[in-house]
Amino acid sequence: MATEKDPTGLRRVAVLGATGSIGGSTLDVIARHRQHFRATVLTAHRQVDALVALCVQHRPDLAVIADPALEAELSRQLAVAGVRCEVASGHAALTAAAASDLSDTVVAAIVGAAGLDSTLAAARTGKRLLLANKESIVMAGPLLLQAMAAGGGDLIPVDSEHNAIFQCLPGGRPALDKSGVRRLILTASGGPFRGRTRAQLAGITPDQACKHPNWVMGRKISVDSATLMNKGLEVIEAHHLFGARAEVIDVLVHPQSLVHSMVEYVDGSVLAQLGNPDMRTAIAHALGWPRRVESGVPSLDLAACAPLQFEQPDLTTFRCLDLAFQALRAGGDAPAVLNAANEIAVEAFLAGALPFLSIADVVEAVLAELPGQAVVDVPTLCERDLAAREAARRVLRNAC
Ligand code: NAD
Ligand code: MG
Repeated sequence: MATEKDPTGLRRVAVLGATGSIGGSTLDVIARHRQHFRATVLTAHRQVDALVALCVQHRPDLAVIADPALEAELSRQLAVAGVRCEVASGHAALTAAAASDLSDTVVAAIVGAAGLDSTLAAARTGKRLLLANKESIVMAGPLLLQAMAAGGGDLIPVDSEHNAIFQCLPGGRPALDKSGVRRLILTASGGPFRGRTRAQLAGITPDQACKHPNWVMGRKISVDSATLMNKGLEVIEAHHLFGARAEVIDVLVHPQSLVHSMVEYVDGSVLAQLGNPDMRTAIAHALGWPRRVESGVPSLDLAACAPLQFEQPDLTTFRCLDLAFQALRAGGDAPAVLNAANEIAVEAFLAGALPFLSIADVVEAVLAELPGQAVVDVPTLCERDLAAREAARRVLRNAC
């Protein structure tokens, strides 16, 4: 049963990962529509100061800090700031917060597999789920969709490409084969290193990789955008969200990031969603759906934009995209293995312990070591996630 909205018509929103880039954009949209939306739950990993500042501004009912060692400090700072709200800590509290009846809507904006349990908890309880945490659907696509079906809530993609496709499909998520859809075309900016050769990428630093030409994002997704693993994860995300086989999902590099994705129909029509590269558009669409609400994003001035370019991705230089397609075709939990290996490799790269080009090598080695198995349940999946992380750490140790 879907959780009902508040009788006053107010949507009560839990923002998981409130201190992050998506969290900040979400709270910006919420603050523009206090009569329609209220942030009732805010969570963060370790950023106590930032979480307290958000609590001062949004006055939630509950604040959760994932690191239990910081709960006392969070309580102390909230008291000093004069904010009266419940405080909780730890991973289980985060999961409970996603399921609690303090909210009817959950924005899953934690980065990485750390967001899986809370995303699933929100899905099971029939809330509207605004999915930014792509890693959870990549890991556990069938389980997440089952949980959504059991809960009966709406799943609205926030990832800009998937939100664009959702907007271009009739009724958001129809059976593609019955809707005359020929192809889903995911656009990709190409990241900061578009056009470079492998030789030119040898000495890339974390700060260079995190400097995205069009989007301001967290560091993990920024590295994923630079390797094109982000697009690979998004191909897998699109497969689950829209029931699309790998063969009908294309990736097209579009450096201006104004066309957020497209749907081609059998009659030759191609529908696209355009807008300035600002996540508040997708977030406002998902919060307000099926209504439209103002997002704070300026109008798109196409006449003032550079000509729009489109080109094929370079799969030789950006091997991660190809590896993601391979994992999708392999099926089962291969995407979860890919995701876990990538998280460890990106962490090592950001820590200065792995060259940029070796991220793909680590992922490839782990995929070869752990061939895909059927996705059975969450505990089995989490064991495989751990095994893939251990394998990735071993590959890293042997490489150094
Ligand atoms: P970010 O790094 O800016 O923020 C991540 C948030 O998650 C922070 O609030 C952090 O405190 C929290 N967090 C991190 N580790 C945690 C843990 N172990 N336990 C609990 N909380 C934890 O990341 P972001 O750029 O906002 O991305 C969030 C998610 O949205 C990612 O899955 C990303 O792929 C996806 N996404 C982001 C964008 C974007 O423009 N930033 C676009 C599309 C999709
Ligand atoms: Mg995206």
